Amino acid sequence: MLSFSATLRRDTSMLWYCQRRFRRAAKVTNVDRALEYFDTALPPVYGSRWPSIRLALLSKQKYVAVLNNFADHEPIIEELHDLGAMDIKHKYTSMAESMKTVEATKMKLSETKECVSQDQDDQEDAKPVRPSLIKLDDDELAARANRAPLDRYPEEYRHRALAQEWCCPPRLEDVLNRDFQGLEHWIEETDVFVDTVQGDEEIGLKREVQKVPFSLPSMLKIFSFGKGDITTFPKPKLDPHMKVLTHYMMDGASLLPVLALDLQPGERVLDLCAAPGGKTLLALQTMLPGLMVCNDLTDGRLRRLKSVLKQYIPSNCSQIQDSIVLTERNGCIPWEREAFDKVLVDAPCLTDRHVLKESDNSIFYPKRAKERLKLPELQSELLVSALHMVRPGGSVVYSTCTLSPLQNDGVVQMALSRIWQETTIDCCVVDLTPAMRPLSFLYRLGSNLGLRYGQILLPSLLANFGPMYVAKIKRLK
Ligand code: SAM
Repeated sequence: MLSFSATLRRDTSMLWYCQRRFRRAAKVTNVDRALEYFDTALPPVYGSRWPSIRLALLSKQKYVAVLNNFADHEPIIEELHDLGAMDIKHKYTSMAESMKTVEATKMKLSETKECVSQDQDDQEDAKPVRPSLIKLDDDELAARANRAPLDRYPEEYRHRALAQEWCCPPRLEDVLNRDFQGLEHWIEETDVFVDTVQGDEEIGLKREVQKVPFSLPSMLKIFSFGKGDITTFPKPKLDPHMKVLTHYMMDGASLLPVLALDLQPGERVLDLCAAPGGKTLLALQTMLPGLMVCNDLTDGRLRRLKSVLKQYIPSNCSQIQDSIVLTERNGCIPWEREAFDKVLVDAPCLTDRHVLKESDNSIFYPKRAKERLKLPELQSELLVSALHMVRPGGSVVYSTCTLSPLQNDGVVQMALSRIWQETTIDCCVVDLTPAMRPLSFLYRLGSNLGLRYGQILLPSLLANFGPMYVAKIKRLK
């Protein structure tokens, strides 16, 4: 039997324990705030895809391994092959080749179709060419079934087509007209204003298609595990002679903005928001830039970039060291006009994956609300400034790691409007879709999302990279 005082002590400590648990349970973290925001803002945009994107964002992220050209990486290549990792460049090239063959077959088929239909002009019972002869993925077939008469498609695609129609995301105008009562402070970010109703000619938008495939720099050696394979990479080792690390791991999505730059030998490259330096390092590993200017706003962030460069670029390799210039400037204010061949604007953004993992230093901290709401303005200023600094004929790649439509296509639209209204700069949007398609062996590429300017890579459990939005703008004059 417990004495009265012992019972009291036990009950009091129980009460204290419950109160503590209750208080802890009641505390809203920045991660909760971020998740609540995403759960409100993103389902109208990503529709039935949202639950799987959400699950992926909350799960372990996937990496690729970038080999360091300045270290002896032969042993690590062997180790990676043993683990079953694939060389992204080889796979991408072979995918692009086989897609080319499919395209050629499609062309032939449509030519045949034209000939056949000419021959059979008078025959009323001419049979349609069976599209199933063409090798397309399921989504594409279902999408086609939506456009063509349904009965021409196998039953499974008819079902998929109907299902897609049923649960396809609402139109952007509908999103705007939603009832936001009680969520007024979110309206600005949810304010999807990209007008996809007007045609390109109506708004004077010029387009160009990125040549297919992306020219993957021969020096870039990147390994990844296949879709659904979550094997981890061995830890980087120190090369005893060169005193640098053998490889580094990064979110595979970070590859996209650098590939989109389509770097050429000797080019002058500006990385406008460079710290902590993942994409700078990738660009340097191509061994292509003649000049690599790495800029960031703050000294603290630049110090992180310096320490990353120190780990991977040998201090005695003067050729590459001399090509790197660090600057600490506000990227919104152009400091040189028409001075660079390529500019990367990897803009500060909501950083969706980060804010769902870390409560500290989160943009969803209530005191940072204003900063969060001002992000689109900052992003578009950075993009406008980049367009001033790139030379005519050069291009700017704008990227973010958020799914927010406003911070992606919305910002590109905002920046282009300013460029059209306030300057004599002429530019066109480069369509990266065909060049990105062969990367579907690695990524989940977002399609049919009504994006006007850029492309988006969506996180999924099978390929848990990203998100990453990329838009490329070429300056014409
Ligand atoms: N590109 C980097 C990488 O791959 O490691 C990540 C860049 S991070 C998404 C955005 C960066 O933009 C931050 O380092 C931040 O300090 C910087 N930034 C924010 N505002 C800026 C501004 N006005 N001018 C230049 N950089 C800015």
